[in-house]
Amino acid sequence: MRPFTYERVTDARAAVAAAASRPGAKFISGGTNLLDLMKLEIERPDHLVDISRLPLGTIEELPDGGVRIGAQTANSDVAADARVRTAYPVLSEALLAGASGQLRNMASVGGNLLQRTRCPYFYYTDSGCNKRDPGSGCDAIGGFNRTHAILGASDACIATHPSDMAVAMTALEARIELLDADGSVRTVAIGDFYRLPGDTPHIETVLRPGEMITGVVLPPPPPGGQLYRKVRDRASYEFALVSVAAVVSTDAGTGADGGTGAGGGTATVMDARVAFGGVAHKPWRSLAAEDSLRERPATMATYRAAAEAAMRDAVGQGGNDFKIELARRTLCRTLDEAARTAGAAGTARRRPGRGGNGHGAS
Ligand SMILES: Cc1cc2nc3c(=O)[nH]c(=O)nc-3n(C[C@H](O)[C@H](O)[C@H](O)COP(=O)(O)OP(=O)(O)OC[C@H]3O[C@@H](n4cnc5c(N)ncnc54)[C@H](O)[C@@H]3O)c2cc1C
Repeated sequence: MRPFTYERVTDARAAVAAAASRPGAKFISGGTNLLDLMKLEIERPDHLVDISRLPLGTIEELPDGGVRIGAQTANSDVAADARVRTAYPVLSEALLAGASGQLRNMASVGGNLLQRTRCPYFYYTDSGCNKRDPGSGCDAIGGFNRTHAILGASDACIATHPSDMAVAMTALEARIELLDADGSVRTVAIGDFYRLPGDTPHIETVLRPGEMITGVVLPPPPPGGQLYRKVRDRASYEFALVSVAAVVSTDAGTGADGGTGAGGGTATVMDARVAFGGVAHKPWRSLAAEDSLRERPATMATYRAAAEAAMRDAVGQGGNDFKIELARRTLCRTLDEAARTAGAAGTARRRPGRGGNGHGAS
């Protein structure tokens, strides 16, 4: 392990000033991703600014009906929060599907958003990885690529974003609050926060050097049923092969196939939000799927058409070809269940407005 210096800060502005004063500095929060990478010398900070004690660990209700989640809130605290569980169940479900109980207790919201997009070759330091060592190639292409991206990949990188939380936040159109070293504050829609790999896969977000995440704002909950479904190789402590965060509103009492709509027939989908995890370098919102769902009968045929639309541009790498059909089927099942939840709750009898956030994917 390489030597580094360490300081703990108790004030957000002191944190960004401390990071700005040292070119090789990095923030450390729960440390569950950063320390692993430092041990492997993949991350080599000269100085760590410990932000884990900053007073950014609360969840507040906002006047518009949304909530603001402080960047230092533990993943487990967000998942357990009664307001989150009631109004944003998809977020609570996504968090509980991630990592393990111990990790969720340590992991912060800011750190979860900024955990490295990665693949096994990124960690295996003898291999070529353009993300770890720009210009060294991508050994996952033509290699063992069972878990890799099927959408938005490039010739330089086919890694996937590992966060479950960020997938749910994408469906909820979250906004990320950032504090810069000069004291300026900006917010970025999560759909605009992450970058696709292109030929610079080592640059994963639009975060500026030294900028710190201070919180995440969730707009008022969209009407309809919410659901997160994660498919993985084992039931716990495993990243997604494919995951889906869905929000579906219908005009119905019961929702899906065979359900009764407002006029006594099959229910109609009024609006939907669809985001995938495990399929791309970033959480992947599918506007194509959403468009094909709107004002269509809440039936499996509609969900299958949405799944086809979502995967229209999907490309396998050989080992991960199965993920394309897995993603389609996971979406169908998630939409069906979310629509039934919407119907059962008797919600979503009105057409919601289209969110104004950047979406970044199709
Ligand atoms: C074995 C294992 C299994 C896992 N499984 C899953 C899983 O199934 N699903 C899932 O979603 N995740 C999973 N994870 C990842 C886990 O969720 C992340 O490691 C965790 O969320 C990172 O949060 P942290 O606070 O520990 O971040 P840290 O490790 O402290 O930091 C991560 C990065 O974020 C930066 N950073 C942290 N906070 C801020 C901030 N406020 N502003 C700016 N930069 C910041 C740091 O500089 C660092 O670069 C797993 C991790 C492990 C080790």
